[in-house]
Amino acid sequence: MFTQLKPEIDQMKQMVRNYVEREVEPYAQQIEEEDKIPQHLIEQAKELGLFGISIPEEYGGIGLNAVGKAVILEQLGRTHNGFVSLISAHTGIGSTGLVKLASPYLKDKYLPGMAAGEKIAAFALSEPAAGSDATNLETRAVKRGDKWIVNGTKHFITNAPVADVFTVFALTDKEKGAKGGITAFLIEKDFPGFTIGKIDKKMGLRGSYTAQLIFEDCEVPDVNVIGEVGMGYLSALKILGEGRVGLAARAVGSCDKLIELSASYAKERKQFGKPIADNQAIQWMLADMATETEAARMLTLKAAHMIDDGKKVIKEASMAKLFASDVFNRVADKAVQIHGGMGYVADYPIERFYRDARITKIYEGTNEIQRLIIARKVLEG
Ligand SMILES: Cc1cc2nc3c(=O)[nH]c(=O)nc-3n(C[C@H](O)[C@H](O)[C@H](O)COP(=O)(O)OP(=O)(O)OC[C@H]3O[C@@H](n4cnc5c(N)ncnc54)[C@H](O)[C@@H]3O)c2cc1C
Repeated sequence: MFTQLKPEIDQMKQMVRNYVEREVEPYAQQIEEEDKIPQHLIEQAKELGLFGISIPEEYGGIGLNAVGKAVILEQLGRTHNGFVSLISAHTGIGSTGLVKLASPYLKDKYLPGMAAGEKIAAFALSEPAAGSDATNLETRAVKRGDKWIVNGTKHFITNAPVADVFTVFALTDKEKGAKGGITAFLIEKDFPGFTIGKIDKKMGLRGSYTAQLIFEDCEVPDVNVIGEVGMGYLSALKILGEGRVGLAARAVGSCDKLIELSASYAKERKQFGKPIADNQAIQWMLADMATETEAARMLTLKAAHMIDDGKKVIKEASMAKLFASDVFNRVADKAVQIHGGMGYVADYPIERFYRDARITKIYEGTNEIQRLIIARKVLEG
C-alpha cells in the first residue's frame, strides 16, 4: 500500500525534488537573511503547478488525491520551511474549504485564480481569545439584507500580508456557539472594512508572514458563505484534519533532509583521527533519527490513504501530526548535536531547521490538543 505510487505522482515527485534541490536550496540562505522569498521562485512554483496541487483539474489545478499531496509536500519539506509554508498554507488550510465545501459559484469564481497561484489563500480561525479553544470566537457576523457585516480581529494568520482570499470563521449565533452558531466566509482582501494589522516577528519560518486581520463593519456578500450557515466549526475541523496530514508530510521531508546532512557531515568530520561516524554514539543517533522518521512517514501515509478511501480520519490525522512534529523536533535536535558547533551557527542549514521545527508542535492545533483528540477517540472505543 505504501510503496506503489501512481506513475504520474512519481513523476511529479521527481520533478519537485529536482526543483527543490536545484532552484530553491541555493536561495535558502538569502530567504533567511532577507526574510523574503525571491519572486522568481514563486513564479517557478506557479509554472510547476504547485499552487494548484489540491485544486481539481476542472478549475485548472492538478487535483492530487491526499496521498499525492502528502508525497509532494514531503518533497517540499526538504527545503526552506518558510518558502514551503507559503505554498502549503495556500494549498492546504487556505484551499480546502473552497474545494470541499463551497458552492459552485464560489468555486468558479475563486479556484482558477488560486490554482494558477494568482490568488493566494489563507485560513483565519485563531483570535487573541480563541487559540486552542477555537469555539471561543469573538469575531461576529450579522446578516443585513443580502450582506453579512463582520467585526472582529484574527491573529497569527499565515500568508495574511500576501493573500487575496481568506476563509474566515465568525460567530453568527452566540447562543448556539460551536453547535450551529459559527459560519465560514470567503473574504477578499479588498472588501470594504478589511485591513491587515501587525506582521509578527517570529523565531523562524522566515519569508512566511503571519499577521492580524482586522474587520470593521466589513461587508461580505451572502453568496460568500462557505458551506452552510452555522456549520463553520465542523468545516474548520474538517479543514484542519486534512491540513494536519500535510503538516506531517512536510515534517517527514525535513527529517529526511536533516538525516542526509547529518550522515554526510558525520562521514566527513574527523576527530581523534577518524570520522565521527565511526563512533557508536553518533551511529545510534542516526539510527533513531531514521527509524522515527520512517514511522512518521507510515502514519502520515496511512492517514492520507484513509482520506482517499473516504474514511473518517480525525484520530489518524492527529496521530500523524503529533508524532511527525515531535519526531521533526527530536531529529533536528540530534542533527544539531551531530554537527557540534556547526549545528549552532547560521552558516549551516541545521539551526534553521531546528528553529523551524518548533512551530510544528504548536500550529494547526498544539500537540496537547492532538493528544486530547486522540484520547477522546480511544475512550469512545
Ligand atoms: C507561525 C504561526 C502561524 C499560524 N498560522 C495560523 C493560520 O494560518 N491560521 C490560524 O487560524 N491560526 C494560525 N496560527 C495560530 C495557531 O494555530 C495557534 O497559535 C495554536 O492553535 C495555539 O493557540 P494559542 O497560541 O492561542 O495557544 P493557547 O491555546 O493559549 O495554548 C497555550 C498552551 O496551553 C496548552 N493548552 C491549551 N488548552 C489546553 C488543554 N485543554 N489541555 C492541555 N493543554 C492546553 C496549549 O497546548 C499550549 O501549550 C499560527 C500560529 C503561528 C505561531
